[in-house]
Amino acid sequence: MAVTVKKGKAQGIINEVQQASGVDMSVCFQCKKCSSGCPVSKLVKSPPSEIMRRLHLDAGDELLDSDILWMCVSCETCSARCPMGIDVAAVMDALRHLALEKGASKKEDNVSLFNRAFLKTVQIFGRTYDIAMIAAYKVGSRKFMGDTEKFPSMLKKRKIALLPKLSGDRKTTRRIFKKAKERKEGAK
Ligand code: SF4
Ligand code: SF4
Repeated sequence: MAVTVKKGKAQGIINEVQQASGVDMSVCFQCKKCSSGCPVSKLVKSPPSEIMRRLHLDAGDELLDSDILWMCVSCETCSARCPMGIDVAAVMDALRHLALEKGASKKEDNVSLFNRAFLKTVQIFGRTYDIAMIAAYKVGSRKFMGDTEKFPSMLKKRKIALLPKLSGDRKTTRRIFKKAKERKEGAK
């Protein structure tokens, strides 16, 4: 498929992405191995290899509206499959951060809400705690009754625990969050 990008409206964001991800994207030769292994590539408008191509072609902020940023499950298959050792998942992460920073994620607000709810529980408990995460998500999204019919069977099958399991190394987790916050503030 031919890839075209809008020209002349905004500057390309490849440098910002390279700086944030620490990834050199110049060695991508469009073999598409990242896209062929990506579990969501058939569900999105632009699979990872196309995102890479668009970055090369100097695509600007319009890239931050790409649906893959919010469909990507951070499985890192793309990074593992790339023959050039490009950390494609880190590129997706950098794009997501830019999208949030520039307010480009409005269409997918509930995904970033879910992301925040997940990270908050990891920050507090040292690992994810489903009940707290679901509660935070439901309060934020105001979808109080959605998917509740699945709750009893998940509880019965022990897929979900009522009480949190604390991580034995919460100090390290807190240190990671502190460093990430400092890094973010330093980048402003
Ligand atoms: S697998 Fe690597 S080299 Fe191939 S298209 Fe994806 S990023 Fe580019
Ligand atoms: S990390 Fe994201 S983009 Fe990469 S293969 Fe997984 S879902 Fe696809």
